[in-house]
Amino acid sequence: MAEKYDLIVVGSGAAGMMAAITAARSGASVLLLEKLSKIGAKLKATGGGRCNLTNTLDNETFMSRFGRDGKFMMPSLQAFDHTALTAFFKELGVESHAPDGFRVFPRTHSSSTIIDAMQQEMQRLCITVACSQRVVSLEHNGERITGVGTEKGSYSADMVVIATGGKGYPVLGAEGDGYLLAESAGHKVTELYPAMMPLKTKEKWVGSCRADTIAKVELRVNMKKYKRLHAKGDLIFTKEGIRGPVVLDFSREITPLLSKFEEVPLIANFTKGMNEEQIREHFKKIIAKEPQSDLLTLLKTLLPESLSLELCKLSDTDPSLTLAKQKGEARDRLFKLLVWTPLTVNGHDGFKMAMITRGGVSLREIDPYTMESRKIKGLYFCGEVMNLDGPCGGYNLQWSFASGYLAGKAAAGQLHLS
Ligand SMILES: Cc1cc2nc3c(=O)[nH]c(=O)nc-3n(C[C@H](O)[C@H](O)[C@H](O)COP(=O)(O)OP(=O)(O)OC[C@H]3O[C@@H](n4cnc5c(N)ncnc54)[C@H](O)[C@@H]3O)c2cc1C
Repeated sequence: MAEKYDLIVVGSGAAGMMAAITAARSGASVLLLEKLSKIGAKLKATGGGRCNLTNTLDNETFMSRFGRDGKFMMPSLQAFDHTALTAFFKELGVESHAPDGFRVFPRTHSSSTIIDAMQQEMQRLCITVACSQRVVSLEHNGERITGVGTEKGSYSADMVVIATGGKGYPVLGAEGDGYLLAESAGHKVTELYPAMMPLKTKEKWVGSCRADTIAKVELRVNMKKYKRLHAKGDLIFTKEGIRGPVVLDFSREITPLLSKFEEVPLIANFTKGMNEEQIREHFKKIIAKEPQSDLLTLLKTLLPESLSLELCKLSDTDPSLTLAKQKGEARDRLFKLLVWTPLTVNGHDGFKMAMITRGGVSLREIDPYTMESRKIKGLYFCGEVMNLDGPCGGYNLQWSFASGYLAGKAAAGQLHLS
């Protein structure tokens, strides 16, 4: 006879652990199944091990950063916003702070503190945690969930929460199992794209600027229909392309385009938003003080040397000559490049390097007030497995924690009704 619980949570990430704790606090008997040998593997890696838990934005602004479907998270955020999240951890003995006034981290700057606190709370609440247990099937009678099947056996429950994450960084556990489980229960899963990742470019010159970090870069898609897509932030050149915060954020817009078109043309402003006139004025001031300044000296006041040299090559200007001695056409080309440098994205490393997944279980078939499936009673979803993804800066963890909280609370609420 299969073991019976009120609630089974599948996956021990931020969303799953929060769902388990919230339900157990309301009196539910909970089994947490995790396929890896340890809990919280991805949570441990977050924020470079520092765990950017959430951010200080108000709910409206927070939701707007998730795009058109962001409103879906309103009930979750109303139930469990960033202040509730930091209060939750404070109660568990974990103080947090926002050193830059925006991104919130545990004061220890260690994700282990978060995992340890949640693990202790799960122990205190007598939640059964079973690792190395991969859920391979959902058991239901077409109307109600009745349990799950794992590679080692089956477990019965009145309610099941799917908190299996996306498909990115598969070594950390999430490999897309949740999508298959959802589909087996009649749910639609949207197209899935890797997101929050470095991008490769057609331009080989980027390799010469490898490791150069450029602050406040603006990136824009240079395609008529997609001109509205843009992002700003720090960029780092790699051997084969670009990475850094602005690229991580922008990649969630680019990868869907890249699956449609072979290449995605971008334009990049590396001069902190300066236009041609401002750059000319800037150079004029330097030349007024130092009339013999060569072009490279001028460019280095705005850009790293390696990028300056590459832009000279692209424009056919001579870095060792003064600005006045450059050929007119080449000089004009250089000014245009200083305002918008073309870059063509032509690849990426797929889900292996994707910090999040764009796409997921369709929101239409999930009740935003409870996270319950509209197809199968007693089946709940939370976290990244759903079709919502946010930019860098604590957005995705806040969403995972908030939706986990709501799913756990709503599931436990069902107990008291039956
Ligand atoms: C390197 C990295 C750094 C990041 N840094 C940040 C950050 O600082 N701030 C931020 O907001 N976001 C960050 N993110 C994104 C964020 O970590 C995720 O969006 C979030 O952790 C998703 O939580 P989740 O609980 O939905 O899924 P996950 O954390 O992915 O948890 C899902 C769990 O389910 C388990 N599982 C999967 N399938 C099964 C199955 N069939 N049976 C049993 N168990 C299963 C997995 O092993 C995993 O433990 C980062 C992501 C990465 C990869």
